[in-house]
Amino acid sequence: MNLIEHFVNGKIIPGSSDKKGKVFNPATGEQESEVRLASKSDLDEAVEVAKKAFETWSLKPPLQRARVIFKFKELIEKNSEELTKMIVSEHGKVFEDARGSLTRGLEVVEFACGIPHLLKGEFSENVGTNVDSWSIRQPLGVVAGITPFNFPAMVPMWMFPIAIACGNTFILKPSDRNPSAPEFIIKLMNEAGFPKGVVNLINGGAETVNQLLSHDDVDAVSFVGSTPVAKHIYESATAGGKRVQALGGAKNHMVVLPDADIDLAADSAVSAAYGSAGERCMAISVVVAVGEVAEPLVKAISDRIDNLKIGPGMQPDSEMGPLISEEHRSRVVDYINSGEAEGATVVCDGRMHSPEQKGFYVGATLLDNVTTDMEVYRDEIFGPVLSVVRVQSFDDALDVIAENQYGNGVAVFTRDGGTARQFQKNVQAGMVGINVPIPVPVGYHSFGGWDDSLFGDTAMYGPEGMRFYTKQKVITSRWPDPTSSQVDLGFPQNT
Ligand code: NAD
Repeated sequence: MNLIEHFVNGKIIPGSSDKKGKVFNPATGEQESEVRLASKSDLDEAVEVAKKAFETWSLKPPLQRARVIFKFKELIEKNSEELTKMIVSEHGKVFEDARGSLTRGLEVVEFACGIPHLLKGEFSENVGTNVDSWSIRQPLGVVAGITPFNFPAMVPMWMFPIAIACGNTFILKPSDRNPSAPEFIIKLMNEAGFPKGVVNLINGGAETVNQLLSHDDVDAVSFVGSTPVAKHIYESATAGGKRVQALGGAKNHMVVLPDADIDLAADSAVSAAYGSAGERCMAISVVVAVGEVAEPLVKAISDRIDNLKIGPGMQPDSEMGPLISEEHRSRVVDYINSGEAEGATVVCDGRMHSPEQKGFYVGATLLDNVTTDMEVYRDEIFGPVLSVVRVQSFDDALDVIAENQYGNGVAVFTRDGGTARQFQKNVQAGMVGINVPIPVPVGYHSFGGWDDSLFGDTAMYGPEGMRFYTKQKVITSRWPDPTSSQVDLGFPQNT
């Protein structure tokens, strides 16, 4: 069986532990690979190598660092077909969706190519007589990135391009459920010409993560995953004095107002709820239908669900693939059962999807008359289950969103500019779409939610990413005429 190992110091290293994880093809339900999980000594070796590489990589002029990133971008483009197939075979999402996620990851690589410009500090001449002041940004050291299963290529690319462009060295700990794509990317980085040890990859689970969090030589941690783990990462790593950005789970609401275009809203809801089988942190999982829009909207959504093609990600006509694992499939089915038991109306029932089909499939499910006290509303399901919550007014819709635990993405569908403006101003979430169901910011803005969707002070990638991966230093300098020097114990003033 194919065995996936760690990648440290420019090469694949056979780990020293016998512990292995299983990697499945979700479309067939068959195990296709094993992944070696790291021992403490494997991890220590990776950190040591990254620490050593930092000594020289951090001294390289930003322009030289950017040139290697340019080369890496070309290699990703050249190998995108192969990489996309790897994502499909271990995640299950359909080919075009996987390819799209790669393109979004590349945006961050492109942004990182502009690092010389981004690292320019600010300069103020003559802040006092013959005194100048300026700021510079310096790298932190060894940075760890811990990533989830649902975007095995894109989410790592949210992190390491900017981290290393800023002069840090990096250790990636990807999800052990689909480790091939991240490893392939790290190999391409090596091929692009990054010096050995600048980017390393260690496979493992919770134990490895916890060792990273408490490692004295790891200076910062970027995390993307579920909320309980994000909170744990934030609390443990900050307690050890590390800088942390930890992005968590979500429950994204799409408000549809009575004046909205029903077809546009229904197309958007179906695309955003069932794309990637709902395994996206920006998936729409709740439609908040305001007033009389509810009846026609539910009908329009269910009509579209009837025509969705569900099947293996490599099959050209598949629009929605399977879920990541059998365990997750049965968890999603349990949520649908719980919604029904608590009184939701099951309009489209994904539990009935092709029982004879192998693989971890659940069909697109639509639940109407969901209320905010139901488990199916409160919890992140991370599957193809869309809930409709009916409310009476625009203000009710804002209240529903404000009271929710999460605050990642949100959208409003309306034809009224004034209402949309009021929505974007008052809504309690970090990323807002106006007639756009999945408002993922482009690579030169930054990605991050509010509330339990983000722990830490900086969002990911874009300008916030650059700030996260550097620390600021402000220098004040004077070149006086030595003959005018004198002792002065007064508070320094700008005279
Ligand atoms: P997860 O939290 O289970 O795992 C994420 C990472 O943490 C993996 O590398 C995993 O090995 C590690 N991990 C798991 N349990 C751990 C523990 N107890 N202690 C330490 N480390 C642990 O998440 P997942 O199931 O891989 O991914 C899905 C989740 O990620 C969803 O909740 C989704 O919303 C979230 N997500 C969020 C964003 C965002 O930008 N906010 C983006 C993508 C995914």
